[in-house]
Amino acid sequence: FIRKKQQIAVHLNEVQQQAVLHTEGPLLLLASPGSGKTTTLLMRIAYLIEEKGAQASRIKAITFSRASAGDMKERYQRFFPELPPVDFSTIHSLAFEIVRESFRIQGLSFQLIEGHGANHDVEPREADELAAPYLHKKLILRDIFRAVTGENITDDQLEELTTYISYIKNKMIPENKRGDVSCGVRHAEQILSEYEKYKIKHPNGLLIDFDDMLTMANDILGKDARLLRKYQRRYDYLLTDESQDTSLVQHAIVEKLVAVHRNLCVVADDDQSIYSWRGAEPSYLLEFQQKYPEARILYMEQNYRSSKNIVETANQFIQRNKSRYNKQMFTHNAEGQPISIKLLPDYKQQTKYLVEEIRKLGNLGEVAVLYRNNASSIDLMNQFDRAGIPFYMRDADNRFFSHWVVQDILNFMRMSYTDRRPDILEAIHTKFNGYITKQQMAALKDINNNESVFDNLLNYVPLQDYQQRQLPQCKWIFEQMKGMPPLEAIDVIRTKLGYDKALDKMCERLGFRKEYLLGILNSLEEIADSLNTMEEFAQRLKHLEALLKSSKSRKGQHAVTFSTFHSAKGLEFKHVYMIDLINGIIPSKEDLKGGDRNGALMEEAARLFYVGMTRAKTQLELLTYQQREGEKATESLFLTEVRTILHPPQLQVSLDSGRQIASGGAVAAAPSMNANTIRSAEELSPGMQVLHRAFGSGEVIRVSGPADLIEMRFAAGTKLLSVRTCLHMGLLELL
Ligand code: ATP
Ligand code: MG
Repeated sequence: FIRKKQQIAVHLNEVQQQAVLHTEGPLLLLASPGSGKTTTLLMRIAYLIEEKGAQASRIKAITFSRASAGDMKERYQRFFPELPPVDFSTIHSLAFEIVRESFRIQGLSFQLIEGHGANHDVEPREADELAAPYLHKKLILRDIFRAVTGENITDDQLEELTTYISYIKNKMIPENKRGDVSCGVRHAEQILSEYEKYKIKHPNGLLIDFDDMLTMANDILGKDARLLRKYQRRYDYLLTDESQDTSLVQHAIVEKLVAVHRNLCVVADDDQSIYSWRGAEPSYLLEFQQKYPEARILYMEQNYRSSKNIVETANQFIQRNKSRYNKQMFTHNAEGQPISIKLLPDYKQQTKYLVEEIRKLGNLGEVAVLYRNNASSIDLMNQFDRAGIPFYMRDADNRFFSHWVVQDILNFMRMSYTDRRPDILEAIHTKFNGYITKQQMAALKDINNNESVFDNLLNYVPLQDYQQRQLPQCKWIFEQMKGMPPLEAIDVIRTKLGYDKALDKMCERLGFRKEYLLGILNSLEEIADSLNTMEEFAQRLKHLEALLKSSKSRKGQHAVTFSTFHSAKGLEFKHVYMIDLINGIIPSKEDLKGGDRNGALMEEAARLFYVGMTRAKTQLELLTYQQREGEKATESLFLTEVRTILHPPQLQVSLDSGRQIASGGAVAAAPSMNANTIRSAEELSPGMQVLHRAFGSGEVIRVSGPADLIEMRFAAGTKLLSVRTCLHMGLLELL
């Protein structure tokens, strides 16, 4: 069998063969990225069907997201077109089936409420089982938060709260232990218990969310012996890929299903565990043998995917983490091109650079741009679409276009065309210099004369002094705005009409994250740039939104993939660009705070970085920039670590640090010294920000002349260096 299959797929190595042939009983395959875990799993399925006579319909393959289930299915069909289909899906879809069946038996019904963490693709959906959109998890939590705290919830708090709930459910933390789980949102525990009550008591009937689906399925299997038997009999073999991201409750479900035959194959890499914040439990892998004493455990460290340069750098990088099994990934692949690091002036130049570089590449299906935050994808979409380069967006649930900041800007623009519509004013009435109160707004809406809202306010509605002064002014500004190019109009809205000030106040009062909102405005300006009219601008937004929605259909075609690091797990591309590599993004501010035990957040961020690096087959580019939203940015300390691996300090002098930027964003090789290079000790003083070629940007703490030492603080820690060596080798540059 193995020999036969090798012609179509790959030549399995010794360990892979063992994994394929070990069909009965528990098996744990613990292995490095690109070592063929998924390949082996697929081969094992084919072997079960062809050689062991297993029925395809009695094999269940589970993976962490709907997208990756889809990928596995495609790969399976490509490898084995002659074989019958196998059920590749998420554990959520199985849980959903179990819950649904149990309810049906009992003559009960439920409604599923939407809303789950980012990247949490879930399959099950049937029109009548899906609750109305106003019963969205986030909307419910928002209301409960207000009821409990008397305040409005911020986007960040909402994010944190949903993560907290997922975490508790996925870790199966009992009610009396919930107090031990920390959450940045005050009264989180109480909010959760109110949320539970809300779902049970809702007049529409029982509501359940995606997390409940898992805990309920697990409970049902624990209590209903008949159903348990039914599902146990349904599958002869269970296989789970990416199991480092399986949560405790998911493990519990799987355990119950395989309890009789114990034919469970678990494939995992602890170094790629990136969902522990949502309750994934990689430590489960450690206990595998305890759970299944007869288990076979196999390790694979040979990487078949990437060039030696990439494999060795990634391998060295991940050794930084303390809590991991010690694996040493290696490869027999050729050295390949060096990993390249690019420092660009700012975010905008980064996108331009990507367009220029990717334009030159052949098969776009082999190219990926990876980022941590979904927000980055808007500029990418805009610029790539302009350049006529097709793309496929892996995380298509981007909420950019419906964000209230985007809607605000559009409403301001609409106002410049007609100021006779109170409904448009209502959408922005508190967000400009005129600041119209709720009562004034209500009074205004009672006037139905189809005149200018400003005239009506001035003529018929009691106003404050400041409004008396401001409103004629605002009316005039809106009139002036009509016909302006959109970029100018946005500027007028932000400055002259006072939108920026209003945002400031809202951030202060409601705790919105200013950077995030500014990021949205920047993206809008980016889109507005070079457009002539506001109509074009509105159309462009519509076009981009439609493009995003239809992007899924371009998957696998001649199109660049845009993806978060999270959603890129399991994939591979010839060319990979990791972007936005600055402190504050990866690692995030939260990660950097280090308040958590043992820097667990930093380690998880490093694993995320590692997942990104190990997606590349031949070319890996790491991109960073000096400025973001007008503020200075510092290179990601992970990037600095990679830089140190690539260019050990003793070699620095002759190497291209990728620092010099020619105009237009193209990058030229840096000479060993340039205008910024610090050449004498006199130029150094405490507090100065400098760039060290090996350690990245840092601050001078102390310079002691006679001892020839300079103490510097870098993201990676404080270091004492020899001044003479630094100067002689041109290692320090003024920032
Ligand atoms: P990840 O951890 O990123 O999910 P993985 O361990 O699942 O990676 P695969 O995606 O299965 O790795 O394989 C990576 C690449 O290596 C694929 O292109 C696959 O075809 C190739 N490959 C796997 N095993 C072999 C082999 N024995 N010989 C040659 N190529 C192989
Ligand atoms: Mg895989």
